[in-house]
Amino acid sequence: MESNDPLRLFSIQFFKELGANVYECRDYIEVTSVPLKFQKFYGKNEPYKLVFDKSLAAMDAELITPESYLLKMMRAYLDNVGDSVLLALNYPIQIDSFIKKNFEIHNCIISKATASINQNFLFKFTFQTTYKFQNEEERFVNDVFVDKGIVINPDLSEFTTSNLNKKDMDMTQLRDYYSIAKEHIKEAINKRTSIIASVLEDSLSKEIARVNSYYEQRVKEIDEQLSKINSSNSKSQKDPAVLNAQKQQFVNEKELFVQNEQKKHSLRLNTKLITTAVMLYPLYSVEAFFKSDNVTRLVIIQFDPLNKKMIPPTCDICKTPLSEIILCNGNHLVCRQCGVKCEECGKISCETCLRQKCSVTNRFICKQCGRVCVKCKAFKNKRFMMTDSVGRQVICRSCA
Ligand SMILES: [Zn+2]
Ligand SMILES: [Zn+2]
Ligand SMILES: [Zn+2]
Ligand SMILES: [Zn+2]
Repeated sequence: MESNDPLRLFSIQFFKELGANVYECRDYIEVTSVPLKFQKFYGKNEPYKLVFDKSLAAMDAELITPESYLLKMMRAYLDNVGDSVLLALNYPIQIDSFIKKNFEIHNCIISKATASINQNFLFKFTFQTTYKFQNEEERFVNDVFVDKGIVINPDLSEFTTSNLNKKDMDMTQLRDYYSIAKEHIKEAINKRTSIIASVLEDSLSKEIARVNSYYEQRVKEIDEQLSKINSSNSKSQKDPAVLNAQKQQFVNEKELFVQNEQKKHSLRLNTKLITTAVMLYPLYSVEAFFKSDNVTRLVIIQFDPLNKKMIPPTCDICKTPLSEIILCNGNHLVCRQCGVKCEECGKISCETCLRQKCSVTNRFICKQCGRVCVKCKAFKNKRFMMTDSVGRQVICRSCA
């Protein structure tokens, strides 16, 4: 049996990396001390006797061909073996200072603020890539993070982690995300692969050039001898047929050396999943009440510490995201552009709240400054209003 049969090499490497004992014979390999996990996965107990040539297949041996089940199981096992862990990523926030850090608070104060947490999943796949070339072996480990189906590159330095119980884990997304991560890892290792490949290619072309020039020289010498024989009538000691045979031999030898160099310079690479970590991270929803003289307003701020993303509240009028908190005295949250001062009280109001004119002065005044008369339904400045004798209803002086 050829000892460099790729299936045989793959099988030996697979079981060795699994930690099993591999006994290599000329015709077969025998594997013992196979981890239980693989025995269960494969569905057959050890020992395994593997042969790689049909003619050697026997009752007690398993024939490994590119189509054989055991080979497929070995490959699938490499894809599935990743031991998964469940972790919690913690990112505590102090709510008041979080709000003050992110918002400029103008004509109001925080009266109450709480935060609720939604957990989200972050998947971390750790891959190991092994490159083998020219008797060298290089290994690289890469982490691929997948968040909501997208590969991200998070900064976890501000998080603390704690272990969680694995049993509540919902693994339905894991398989899909694994495929995403696997696609990504191919791209990620491409750079390293092409660097190694180009080094090998340079070295290979040098070697081939060396082989070529050596044999070109030998062939040239023979050609010179042959042309001498042809041109002179003198009987040479050498037989042209022998020289031609020698020439052909050089050509064949050259081919063999070139092939050998190509083999020596080939790059083998293998990527496998080592671990999977599922990490729960918090998504904050901060509920803050802002209070000014007349109004209290609830504002919701979403914060994703993993992606460093905040969804701020927006201006009630123009919907611009806000970085400052300005309350209209009609209870609207407004931006600088949409805030207008009431001519009467001088407080911040907005276009929605300053829509009504006092029917006496004909000036736009805010909701706090005017009242509607229950009798004539006119909107007038508070100055022109009075409460009825019971003190419940507001009527204007004209109607009183
Ligand atoms: Zn606005
Ligand atoms: Zn006003
Ligand atoms: Zn308003
Ligand atoms: Zn009235």
